[in-house]
Amino acid sequence: MSKKAVIFLGPPGAGKGTISAVCQKEFNWKHLSTGNVCREHIVNKTDLGQEIAALISQGKLVPDQIIMNMIEMWIVTHQYNIDGIIFDGTPRTLEQSAFIDKMLNVQFSNFKTLVVKFEVDENVLMNRIESRVVCGNKDCQRVYSTQQDNSLQPKQFMKCDVCDHDLIHRPDDSRETLKKRLDVYYQHEKDMLQYYKDKGTTILVINAQEPVEQVFEYIKQISNC
Ligand SMILES: [Zn+2]
Repeated sequence: MSKKAVIFLGPPGAGKGTISAVCQKEFNWKHLSTGNVCREHIVNKTDLGQEIAALISQGKLVPDQIIMNMIEMWIVTHQYNIDGIIFDGTPRTLEQSAFIDKMLNVQFSNFKTLVVKFEVDENVLMNRIESRVVCGNKDCQRVYSTQQDNSLQPKQFMKCDVCDHDLIHRPDDSRETLKKRLDVYYQHEKDMLQYYKDKGTTILVINAQEPVEQVFEYIKQISNC
């Protein structure tokens, strides 16, 4: 059985993180979060980290080339200890998809690419984001939900469990902002899916509103191929 490069595609709030945690536990897969890897490089003051820190301090975006170098180094470091990589959050554009695809084919051809597309109703996402509140204490910023049946509900109404500070709604968690963000996301997702389709890559479409166990079963089925 070949190793897997599993690309998770889905909007923020679709539950990719939850499924990812289950996959890491059940398979010997490792979650590749480019955000976390970026922070590690900055903290450890590597050459890449210093380059990234300089860009961020100038308010610039980190170019694809740097992100790809980071991913490459990460795979080089981890490839022998894992059976799969979960790509979550990257690729986010067609260019990044093609970049990663080429890298895997050339350098890590023992990893077979699979795409998992998380589908979730737009209204469910909207409600989830709209009911999100955060602790107003800058040093805490713990995230809560005002939804009744949600496990993230604070113990006391609109008060932080940890520091007792008032909870607030982030202005960028509004319906309008989210709608805009989603439209951009879906445009990129469409392009990426077309790319993988053209390449003949296996694409698993799942309904992310189904229970975690069920979603995991689907992924288990394709992980055997
Ligand atoms: Zn707090």
